[in-house]
Amino acid sequence: MPSDSVDVAILGAGIAGCSLSYHLARRGVGPVLVFDPQTLAAGASGRAAGIVTEQLWNRWDVEVTRAAKAEYAELARRWDPSAYATNGFARWTRQAEAVAVLDRVVPQFRTWGVPIERLDADALSRRVPWGRFDDVRGAIWSPDDGVVAPSTMTEIYAKRAQADGVEYWMGDPFHALDRAGDGWSISGRGRTVRARRVVLAAGAWTKRLLTRLGLPAPLAPYRVQAALLRPPRPDPRLFPSVHDIDTDVYARPEANGRILAGDGTELNEIDPETFRPGGDESFVAHLAESFQTRFPGWADAELIRAWAGVVVSTPDRRALVGPVSAAPGLYLMTGFNGFGVMRAGGVAQRLADAMSVGEATAAATEPLAPVLPDRFAGGFAPFSPRPGFTLEGGSDPRF
Ligand SMILES: Cc1cc2nc3c(=O)[nH]c(=O)nc-3n(C[C@H](O)[C@H](O)[C@H](O)COP(=O)(O)OP(=O)(O)OC[C@H]3O[C@@H](n4cnc5c(N)ncnc54)[C@H](O)[C@@H]3O)c2cc1C
Repeated sequence: MPSDSVDVAILGAGIAGCSLSYHLARRGVGPVLVFDPQTLAAGASGRAAGIVTEQLWNRWDVEVTRAAKAEYAELARRWDPSAYATNGFARWTRQAEAVAVLDRVVPQFRTWGVPIERLDADALSRRVPWGRFDDVRGAIWSPDDGVVAPSTMTEIYAKRAQADGVEYWMGDPFHALDRAGDGWSISGRGRTVRARRVVLAAGAWTKRLLTRLGLPAPLAPYRVQAALLRPPRPDPRLFPSVHDIDTDVYARPEANGRILAGDGTELNEIDPETFRPGGDESFVAHLAESFQTRFPGWADAELIRAWAGVVVSTPDRRALVGPVSAAPGLYLMTGFNGFGVMRAGGVAQRLADAMSVGEATAAATEPLAPVLPDRFAGGFAPFSPRPGFTLEGGSDPRF
């Protein structure tokens, strides 16, 4: 029986909202309601590539992603083996400046327990036999990295959460989110639900929700693209994920020997309500050109389809997760800078832990310290989206 009063309402049924609902239910927090005006994984989560790597910027990020990876592997084992696979991840560069970055980050990765190897061009060719790497000056290889099927994993989270009593309220147009006494009210077309706490996990749409509440929104939505291709001689064996640091083109294996490929960030803010969901000709041309030069074995791959999705960046390229002090009972789980699939499960564990103790005390939110939204409470300068798939931290990465 749908309830008109819940403890936690989560806005957004992408991988962020669904993984959080699963973890709250497992910790006995409830009732929990997930609201989305569309369907499961209708936003970025249903359009993502799903590369999962520990080649990240700091220990916190590595630990969160490692926890997500372990959870995806376990959930896939139990519920749908197509949802996760360990296939390894290779990255390379032909630029001396980027090799210097590899020299710096590889020892750092090792101190964080990230399994990582340096590869020369010959070793890289053995891992990636469809590529040509004679001009490559440096490469790295993470054997334990993997690929997740983002829609399938989102569905697994939602189904398990529903089995544990979470209500999914889907497909009803969003009308309002308002303060109601010391809680919140969420209204759709024909229903209003009161919630003691609300989590905004609405991806690129979170900016609009925060702005409507009159709160600072350190978020900039931007468009990223991907394509599905069929190589001339599909090989159904699982191949590694790859990323060319110089062109920013990446690829991962898809079912039946197909390839899912994409490139980086479009560095301007857009509106998730009006973005163009199809792939651009210039994007497909860039992929084709980079396949010609870097992946001769895939040069004649047939394009099955190309598409775009909207993700969301933050001024410091770190996520926004945890309570918003200016609005008691309001929490965020967003701002993944284009890489929320690989982090969602681990971040949801920490946020659910913090929410399960009741009030948002400093001790409860300490495990989320690097991503707490209050770091922008004092304001932030206007900013543009920055690339998220880099080896470097900082606000202006080159590689
Ligand atoms: C082409 C592409 C490739 C990518 N590749 C990778 C990758 O390899 N690895 C990786 O980790 N990440 C990748 N990403 C990024 C990843 O998809 C996102 O970071 C992640 O899916 C964000 O999940 P989310 O649940 O926060 O947001 P979303 O999946 O966007 O979900 C937000 C949800 O909020 C809903 N919503 C909107 N308005 C409201 C409202 N008013 N109330 C309630 N709900 C609302 C939307 O309908 C939507 O379902 C990629 C993304 C794209 C587009």
